[in-house]
Amino acid sequence: MALANDRDIGSGRWTAYFERINGKRTSNSILQGNDKMSIAETSKPLSKTETACRICMGSNLNPILSLGKTPLANSLLKKEGPQDENRFPLDLVFCSDCSLVQITETVNPEILFSDYVYFSSFADTTLKSAESLVARLIKERNLSDSSLAAEIASNDGYLLQFYLKDGVRVLGIEPAQNIATVARKKGIDTISEFFGLELAQKLANRNQKADVLHANNVLAHVAELNGVVEGMSVFLKDSGLIVIEAPYLKPMLEHTEFDTIYHEHLCYFSLTALDKLFRSHKLYINDVEQLSIHGGSLRLFIEKKDQPSNTVKTMLEDEAKSGVKTAAYYEQFSNKVQRLKTELLTLLKDLKSQNKSIAIYGASAKGSTLMNYFGIDKDLVDFVVDRSTVKQGLFTPGNHLAILPPEKLLELKPDYVVLLTWNFVDEILEQQKAYREMGGKFIVPIPELKVV
Ligand SMILES: [Zn+2]
Repeated sequence: MALANDRDIGSGRWTAYFERINGKRTSNSILQGNDKMSIAETSKPLSKTETACRICMGSNLNPILSLGKTPLANSLLKKEGPQDENRFPLDLVFCSDCSLVQITETVNPEILFSDYVYFSSFADTTLKSAESLVARLIKERNLSDSSLAAEIASNDGYLLQFYLKDGVRVLGIEPAQNIATVARKKGIDTISEFFGLELAQKLANRNQKADVLHANNVLAHVAELNGVVEGMSVFLKDSGLIVIEAPYLKPMLEHTEFDTIYHEHLCYFSLTALDKLFRSHKLYINDVEQLSIHGGSLRLFIEKKDQPSNTVKTMLEDEAKSGVKTAAYYEQFSNKVQRLKTELLTLLKDLKSQNKSIAIYGASAKGSTLMNYFGIDKDLVDFVVDRSTVKQGLFTPGNHLAILPPEKLLELKPDYVVLLTWNFVDEILEQQKAYREMGGKFIVPIPELKVV
């Protein structure tokens, strides 16, 4: 998706990327640093530093936070010890013209998504939420067998299947050939191409236009945002509706979720920035809902007529009042991140000086950002545990910690475990009852440092 014109990218790679972000599957798909292509194998530059805003093309990009040069957050390593790892700048900026928060480095997708394994296992909650959304839209939009529902990054048809069941025609757009095949077997007509203006025009010329067009957790990864949104406009019927889910900037800033910043996430959206983006393509955000998934997301309802609901108006006003286009708004966030860094490192060093042993829970991309930025290495922690059997036996990017199964906590009995997958905190604390009853303690750094 990100570089819609890069048709030479191996078909499956994008899926790994959608799946990690979407959380649609368990963490079976990982990249392995040792397998990455070398510079000689790819003709394109490894990365590119952007100097213009990804939405408005303006040059007023202001620094929020620099996380230094970090390895790719999902590039787990097969071996321990010193080795070549690509590192890229991870600098977060905001555009004072349109408010878009973005990173400046675009890593070549050939490097970013160089390896993947496909396993289908959608969370029940994802499927239930898709089913109820579809039922609602069929009713509200009077969809019938003459209507077309489509999805960009449609995966194995986890969402479109519910339209099909109710007799609505469907079209999936999923660049990964093998996943498109899985969808087709379920009867979901699927095109295996990248979505952009070119494909949209091709579909429109064939008179295939969408009544409802979905795109979930796609926009944050798109380098050519304007091309993709223009394509959406071309592919949408005049009376059609676009439904988009994207992580929301506000909770990320409020809850100090700086660890969601990594190279796969190019953009971090306020409603103000999204409004600007869609308006410039004559598309209008007419309604918005806030969802709790991914630390806080937006679900946008977009049409070709300009009729914003009161909710949209109020949210835009609130964002303007809070100063989404001003440095002050982002300063609080970067100050909180610096404070957290000092607090956590002080605590860990203090525990180390008392000869306490410390482990990490969660070999996630988030954990990689936090450990590499804070400089958490073997001097402070001994190992990492993760439930994903695919990750076990590998090593974390940058700091090269061994990834072990969570059962090792009972065997090796570290005094403290730093929990980096804060999105599953309750679930993990419950699962680790035995370790906690043994006296083991968890350190949860985000949103605020606490020991439980
Ligand atoms: Zn801008």
